[in-house]
Amino acid sequence: MIRKVLIANRGEIALRIVRACQELGVRSVAVYSDADAQAPHVREADEAVHIGPAPASESYLRGDHLIAVAKQVGADAIHPGYGFLSEREWFARAVRDAGLIWIGPPAEAIAAMGSKTAARTLAISAGTPVVPGTTTPLRDAGEAAATAAQFGYPVLLKAAAGGGGKGMRVVREAGEIASALASAQREAKNAFGDDAVYVEKYIEGPRHVEIQVLADAHGNCIALGERECSIQRRHQKMVEEAPSVAVSPELRKRMGDAAVAAAKAAGYVNAGTCEFLLDKNGDFYFLEMNTRIQVEHPVTELVMGIDLVQWQLRIASGERLPVLESPQPKGWAIECRITSEDPANGFLPSTGRIAHLHLPSGPGVRWDGGIEVGSVVGLSYDPMLAKLIVFAPTREAAIARMERALKELVIDGVETSREFHLRVMADADYRAGRVDIQWLESRLPTLLAQQAPAETRAAAAIAAALLADRERGGRRVAATPEGTASVASTSTSPAGTTGRAGGSSTWAQLARLESLRS
Ligand code: ADP
Repeated sequence: MIRKVLIANRGEIALRIVRACQELGVRSVAVYSDADAQAPHVREADEAVHIGPAPASESYLRGDHLIAVAKQVGADAIHPGYGFLSEREWFARAVRDAGLIWIGPPAEAIAAMGSKTAARTLAISAGTPVVPGTTTPLRDAGEAAATAAQFGYPVLLKAAAGGGGKGMRVVREAGEIASALASAQREAKNAFGDDAVYVEKYIEGPRHVEIQVLADAHGNCIALGERECSIQRRHQKMVEEAPSVAVSPELRKRMGDAAVAAAKAAGYVNAGTCEFLLDKNGDFYFLEMNTRIQVEHPVTELVMGIDLVQWQLRIASGERLPVLESPQPKGWAIECRITSEDPANGFLPSTGRIAHLHLPSGPGVRWDGGIEVGSVVGLSYDPMLAKLIVFAPTREAAIARMERALKELVIDGVETSREFHLRVMADADYRAGRVDIQWLESRLPTLLAQQAPAETRAAAAIAAALLADRERGGRRVAATPEGTASVASTSTSPAGTTGRAGGSSTWAQLARLESLRS
């Protein structure tokens, strides 16, 4: 068994891995940049090592340095989490070459799934359905036009080295293809240093449904059901759930078999995810494989009753999978990604210090977070602060539970997506499960119209603080640029600040303030 793990990551996922280590009796070593010296993952780990300044390129992305640190502290394994170095083939190889255990898939499997065209070729060889299209880069606009005509418009031009939606262009008619190809190639070259672009049929209104797989080093691989991840903005997932309303046990079995076939063809070991598009006819197409643990893994853990991160460690230690049959999901789980973004302001990242934090609890509520009171939220890293996850017997009960938990949650100091999530939960389409990958973007104007802009909320918060101040007998009121208000010289936050659900108490207080004035 692995005895000591260096965690090459930060934030909520680093803490998640620390917790898995603690429960398995494995020592954990956190690493941290200047910006994270006070972070919870640093305190909770058994040891912590400072690795550099805040920019990731000078700290969390310094692979060679991280390996040297692991050796120094006597760690025998490295867990990369997600993002940062998790899907870098060279890093997985370097860890192995240094005589350490890589808690993830073999470098060769990362490479095999690293390019979209290579992954498509591999999936086709495994009999896994892929989106109709090509597997080789386009030579020129003439070839692009001929290929697009063959598959029929609309088509999607995609960068072979793509990620994060970069180098992708939807083309609806022949007249647009030459310029779309040129701009996709340019963007791909800039982002990935590789201008290879190929063609896929553009699927209208599909769902994003992904299959979790777990493979051991003894040739066993199982599918652990699906996650529905269609609620996306700019290709970023915001809400995930398991199972999916669109997946029957029969479809789950076929998608699971297709994912396992693709994973086996890549020589996959450890936890991974095959992403699929599921169209309106119930046909599914392989998109790509994420060769790491994913942000949304908790929803699978809850409905499958399995600890995926612990199994990552067990598999890396050589353990066999405990079951060889894919289990069926029990109950329903939903995850909301709580980010420090301001939905009312075009989802602009919000920065500041967490002044007050009240975490939801009670039946079926899980909080995977990386912040606490005093945490400074800056711009150096991803704006995801935490994941709020709920579990209940049915989807309806899970939605009610998520609404209740979001209302309990108070984060003061930065703007967050909390209120926006409440509006998604209340939406009739969402509640009926009538969503696809375009739904959130098309619904944004309606969802945002229900949300007061930050300035209005800031004004309301100041008013509420003034009222509280008046009732207490006069203290100074300070408003922060993030739209919260606090009363100086009191330790409690004023009643009805923006952190609370819906802001109704704030508005009620504002009304009372008005009546006091008159
Ligand atoms: P990236 O790796 O850049 O994120 P993906 O291949 O995972 O690119 O695609 C990103 C998103 O774009 C998908 O989640 C889906 O929303 C959309 N998408 C990708 N391929 C297609 C397609 N052929 N038709 C329609 N939408 C697609």
